[in-house]
Amino acid sequence: MYLKKVEIYGFKSFGQKVEIIFDNKVTGIVGPNGSGKSNIVDAIRWVLGEQRVKTLRGGKMEDVIFSGTEEKRALGYAFVSITIDNTTGILPSEYSEVNVSRRLYRSGESEYYINKNAVRLKDVHELFMDTGLSREGYSIISQGKIESIVNNSAVDRKLMIEEAVGIVKYKTRKNEALRKLDKTQSNLYRILDIISELE
Ligand code: ATP
Repeated sequence: MYLKKVEIYGFKSFGQKVEIIFDNKVTGIVGPNGSGKSNIVDAIRWVLGEQRVKTLRGGKMEDVIFSGTEEKRALGYAFVSITIDNTTGILPSEYSEVNVSRRLYRSGESEYYINKNAVRLKDVHELFMDTGLSREGYSIISQGKIESIVNNSAVDRKLMIEEAVGIVKYKTRKNEALRKLDKTQSNLYRILDIISELE
């Protein structure tokens, strides 16, 4: 599994449509300070479903939308799309190439797509769970990340190891099932209350 392509339009400094093609070797991105290198990484995090604005180096989510320059006016939405080679089948998808995209409008309306089908954020999270590319994943190592891993609490480190060994999706499903059980139990108590009132 490797990242084949990133398309960006209207995200942070990218007021023009940009397409970056990667191969399965090493790619370096160079450029002057402030030219947008880190914005590419932010775009990848964002399309993977990042919701924490701080991680994206912003104050509010709208800050990711291109705010204009002297030459080009601001845009109304941000769009990022990534294409992943899945010939090894690591992603739980029948396709050998998986495309994930996200669009955010200034109104706050947000859209996610997997291979052009509209999906929920939850579906994007589930697609990448246990692959190393999810929220707690280790595929994106930013400045200071190694230091933070070393200094992390044992609980945070455990989270990362769980992602690596591939048990996060089972833990998530277990928690969902427990939540449903809890809700069903409360409904049962309510029904029993009503029955006893009627008797
Ligand atoms: P460095 O080498 O200093 O780390 P960099 O190449 O990684 O720099 P980035 O941090 O990716 O640069 O880009 C910063 C630039 O992105 C700034 O010029 C900033 O004004 C611009 N930028 C960030 N958000 C937006 C936005 N919403 N609209 C327009 N430009 C933006």
